[in-house]
Amino acid sequence: MIITMKKLAPQEEIDRMVRSIELKGLQVTMISGTDYNVFGVVGDTTILDDRKLSASPYVDNVQRVSAPYKLANRVFHPADTVVDVSGVRIGGSEPVVVMAGPCSIESETHTDLMADLVKQAGGRIFRGGAYKPRTSPYAFQGLGSDGIRYMETAGKKYGMPIVSELMSIDKLEEFVEHVDLIQIGARNMQNFDLLKEVGRTKKPVLLKRGLANTIEEWLMSAEYIMAGGNEKVILCERGIRTFEKYTRNTLDLSVIPVIKQRSHLPIVIDPSHATGDRKLVESMSLAAIAAGADGLIIETHCDPPHALSDGAQCLYPSQLALLIERGREIARVIGRDL
Ligand code: PEP
Ligand code: MN
Repeated sequence: MIITMKKLAPQEEIDRMVRSIELKGLQVTMISGTDYNVFGVVGDTTILDDRKLSASPYVDNVQRVSAPYKLANRVFHPADTVVDVSGVRIGGSEPVVVMAGPCSIESETHTDLMADLVKQAGGRIFRGGAYKPRTSPYAFQGLGSDGIRYMETAGKKYGMPIVSELMSIDKLEEFVEHVDLIQIGARNMQNFDLLKEVGRTKKPVLLKRGLANTIEEWLMSAEYIMAGGNEKVILCERGIRTFEKYTRNTLDLSVIPVIKQRSHLPIVIDPSHATGDRKLVESMSLAAIAAGADGLIIETHCDPPHALSDGAQCLYPSQLALLIERGREIARVIGRDL
């Protein structure tokens, strides 16, 4: 970290700042210029609050050299993290994992049918929302506990772990007991209390990128979970808000190599919420595999026009099967299985 202090800063102010940083176990080196005093701070600077340092009227600028996240940072953990989701391994050089299922869990028979179809198509983890974060309070809100129960039964029957979204802390116990992979949705990426609570569990977490969050903010949210002792975090890009209207969101595929460079955590792509359009899902999925994604999460429905949510972006099961077949070929080209 580089702290630039104004030349007029009184000596006692400079001493106070240096002392407070050194007391935290960091080393400070000063370079005295004609207009400014520049301090180089080395050590674990993640514990310093740059905004707080900037609050001093004598500080002109605070510049971070290293990232503010530590546990999620590849620098301190060079090997890829592989997250085991009840027997399905995600990350590193493991096969690309396809998670698929409906946006919302709709009924017991529908859940059973969807799990069967996802399994037949080659999916390895069954997705479905039981607690739904809907933009309108009048839209279908999900089946709640019943939905989780239907998923758990179907997952066990067809031999697939399940992933579902947790929206509030009061349902955490239910998820710890019945869900294999806890999804934190885009809207809750910065719900820090929720992140802290899932961080106290041992459950794998699928952390979606917020609607308008930077990669650094996303990694800081991963850091929240990891700081609680839970290092089983899988990142999920699901498109971000831009000015573009022809797609529901803008899929930022460049996050795949960026995350691989900066973090050791696995990265999964959600082409369904990113595009909002079933016609775009296959091409974006293949591109994601080519770019090195560790997995995909794809909304699939046996009857999309009548789906209770997100029908426009749900694939028909036959399309999912074809996508997986084509994806396997792309994965092979880059030396990976699917
Ligand atoms: C979902 O996966 O059903 C969902 C609501 O996703 P997101 O949080 O990315 O909008
Ligand atoms: Mn959805």
